[in-house]
Amino acid sequence: MRPVVNETTCMACGTCAAVCTADPVVFEVTDVSRVVHPEACLECNECVASCPAESIELVED
Ligand code: SF4
Ligand code: SF4
Repeated sequence: MRPVVNETTCMACGTCAAVCTADPVVFEVTDVSRVVHPEACLECNECVASCPAESIELVED
């Protein structure tokens, strides 16, 4: 599994990167959150649960 960000609704709050337990962190947040290390995802679901804009989902690789 890997996360996918809805770039239209993402508010660039940075929460997903802050709560991500992966090393390296899966997200890089600038003007929007981007998935830069999908291979590192541990499928913990924290980003999905924590995103205030409900803009992340986990999908099959
Ligand atoms: S937590 Fe959600 S709204 Fe915030 S930067 Fe990540 S994807 Fe965007
Ligand atoms: S599911 Fe967990 S490890 Fe994967 S991107 Fe989200 S917070 Fe990071």
